[in-house]
Amino acid sequence: MTQPADIAAQCQSLDELVHSAQQCRVCPALAADRGHVVVGQHPPGARVFVVGEAPGAQEDLTGEPFVGRSGQLLDTVLHDAGLPRSSVAITSVVKCRPPANRTPTRAEIVSCSPWLDQQLQLIDPQIVVALGTVAMQWALGRQARVGEQRGRLQPFRDRQLMVTYHPSAALRFGPNGAPLAALRDDLAIVAAALR
Ligand code: SF4
Repeated sequence: MTQPADIAAQCQSLDELVHSAQQCRVCPALAADRGHVVVGQHPPGARVFVVGEAPGAQEDLTGEPFVGRSGQLLDTVLHDAGLPRSSVAITSVVKCRPPANRTPTRAEIVSCSPWLDQQLQLIDPQIVVALGTVAMQWALGRQARVGEQRGRLQPFRDRQLMVTYHPSAALRFGPNGAPLAALRDDLAIVAAALR
């Protein structure tokens, strides 16, 4: 079976990449039950690229990234930071929903990452926002703690990277929890860096 690593880098446009990714069946456990391959949202001229973990139930149903509860919270915190959702590119490391919303396996992350790597090249954003552990590990290429990496922009492939909490963590800890406050603070830093 042809691997994303063989195809993705040859995609010369986002339309081509979306079309190719939608045909991908490299991860049998994910391809078997998915409703959609959720490749992402790519508004023209986006300077911020937000990367999450993997689609959930609502994303799988609609084919759109971050449209469930986490997505609604993401919309709110982006808006409050002065980064309307319509202005940012959004995707996830893994493009197909893992069964029962489990964490993607290492093999699935490695298989799917070439799509994301090429999205990054084609979107060419100024800042990448990595939401949560899986996106952070894709960006850093190693294990780390979100709490230790967040709160500052760091160099990343000739751009800048902001590691921060996934909105699902902010939901889990509630409106007065530290992850939501950190997520808001980190997006404010991103917005300020764009000015
Ligand atoms: S998760 Fe990624 S690599 Fe796996 S089947 Fe879906 S698109 Fe292909």
